[in-house]
Amino acid sequence: MHARADLTALPSYAPEHRFPGAIKLDNNENAFGPLPSVVDAITKAASRINRYPDSGATELVARLATKLGVDAAQLAVGSGSAMLCQHLIQALCNSTGAVLFGWRSFEGYPIFAQTVGAAQIKVPLTAGHALDLDAMLAAITPETRLIFLCTPNNPTGTPVREADLARFVDAVPPEILVVIDEAYREFVDDRDVPDGVEFAKEQWAAGRHQVAVVRTFSKAYGLAGLRVGYLVAAETVAAVTRKVYIPFSVNSAAQVAAQASLDAEDELLARCQDIVAERGRLRAELLDIGYQLPETQANFLWLPLGELAAQFNEHCLSHNVIVRAYDGDGARVTIGTPQENDVFLAAARSFR
Ligand SMILES: *Cc1c(COP(=O)(O)O)cnc(C)c1O
Repeated sequence: MHARADLTALPSYAPEHRFPGAIKLDNNENAFGPLPSVVDAITKAASRINRYPDSGATELVARLATKLGVDAAQLAVGSGSAMLCQHLIQALCNSTGAVLFGWRSFEGYPIFAQTVGAAQIKVPLTAGHALDLDAMLAAITPETRLIFLCTPNNPTGTPVREADLARFVDAVPPEILVVIDEAYREFVDDRDVPDGVEFAKEQWAAGRHQVAVVRTFSKAYGLAGLRVGYLVAAETVAAVTRKVYIPFSVNSAAQVAAQASLDAEDELLARCQDIVAERGRLRAELLDIGYQLPETQANFLWLPLGELAAQFNEHCLSHNVIVRAYDGDGARVTIGTPQENDVFLAAARSFR
């Protein structure tokens, strides 16, 4: 076999599964199990799995269009929003295109870019662990086809505020797509952080069709295991993204579970508020212990531990807690249930 040589160098996207029974704070999942109504919808879908799913996810798309105030033609669904990020790169780039993003940011971006064979432009974060928008603007090249703005940023939790976002989009050449990755939108409680979809709609109305948004049911809606996310974009962008969609890749259980989750949205968003409250408690306690940590608007915290990251990781594991450590850089810790967070806090306390 002649596998592509460049894939050898690619890290495998493989989260830890070595510690059965441990407290999992490493994947930014929702600690709360699915609602009974959602399980019901999935159970009903199970009796029809001899049939292919609706490849266009028509009902789900119609629901989302109504909820978001956009046309169905301005939506595309994907097997998780991660898949949509890859579809966007596939739709806009080949070996002559480049993808620009902050670093550190979502681990998927470099993997998807390389999978497609597109170049990567990684722009270091600010000293405050936020996206450096000015540096990102300065890093744009003639090859740049799309920019990922992850807000709040994974893994640092820092958001992009409205005035900064508007200034940024204004300065990006109109032929470059700006993809706002809002995987954690539902955990934002700062009013200066815009709703990406509302922002995009305003931009389109002003003739700037280059703004797109990806969102997911994996985090706030607790459907990580089913894989479903969506893109909101100008009609031409959504259409070209649908061209690279792997047929039927959003399965029928995912489609009905997403709809049932929209039915139960109030309940699910109330859970997000509980997580946000826990985030505040955890952050305050960690600051109190003496950790430094940037502001966060997501369902996780970032501990910029530098060289201590690996040691911190081992320490947490010895306390039965799995965090996501990035060697030499820091550790990302998902907000879990209050009990889980207490176990983590005890571990964090004894590390000092
Ligand atoms: C989790 C995450 C996603 C994708 O999640 P899916 O499960 O693929 O929908 C996308 N972007 C960021 C920044 C994430 O953290």
